[in-house]
Parts: sequence; C-alpha cells; structure tokens
Amino acid sequence: MDCIFCKIIEGAIPSKKVFENDRVVAFHDIQPAAPVHILIIPKKHIATMNDVTDEDAEVVAELFAVARQIAKEQGIAESGYRLVNNVNADGGQLVYHLHIHLLGGAKLSPLVA
Ligand code: C5P
Repeated sequence: MDCIFCKIIEGAIPSKKVFENDRVVAFHDIQPAAPVHILIIPKKHIATMNDVTDEDAEVVAELFAVARQIAKEQGIAESGYRLVNNVNADGGQLVYHLHIHLLGGAKLSPLVA
C-alpha cells in the first residue's frame, strides 16, 4: 500500500517520533503550523474518520489519550492546545491515513468557516 504514514510507521521514511507503542505512533509534523505540531496516528491503516468502525473504538480513544499525554510532556496542557482531524477534500485532508494534529505553544487563531 502506498501510504506515507504506513512507511513512517515501518521506519522506511524518517520521522521525529515522540511516542510509540503497539497501536499508536506520534511524530513531529514536517511542516509545523504552530510551535508544537505533532501528529498522532494508529498503526492500523484507516484512511479517514469516515472509515472508523466499532472495532476501532479502543484505538481511537487511545489516540486522544496519547494526545493528552504528549500535551502534558510538551508543557502545553494548561496553556491550551487544539486537536484537529481533517476529513476528505473539503476538510483539507492530504494524507489518507487517520491522524490527529496536536497544535499548541501559541495562542491559536479562532476557527473560521
Ligand atoms: O490533515 P492533513 O492530511 O492535511 O495533514 C497531513 C500532515 O502530514 C501535514 O501537516 C503534513 O505536513 C504532514 N506530513 C508529515 N510528514 C510527511 C508527510 C506529511 O508530517 N512525511
């Protein structure tokens, strides 16, 4: 499968990983949109949030648990941060492997339509 995030999981493409276990990987975004910009992804290839099934409930919950933990480690839990999941073309999704963006380290601009 030609998925860039699957290649990052395998180590075939380098990344700056900050977390890894049997189910989840987190690494710094190569084009950071904020002082802290980390992507949290499942090792299982799930293309988009639309493709999440009941059997993925635990790993999706774990993505958020890992995001909370990394926010603490990065020192942004109390000041605040944003979790973003882009879905399909109108949502701005570029990589079709489920991922949550953890953004923080600065006051983020309000979301606008
Ligand atoms: O949500 P979306 O699919 O648009 O985000 C994909 C993200 O993956 C981008 O922020 C991009 O910078 C990041 N990326 C990365 N490492 C790669 C390829 C893309 O961090 N090798």
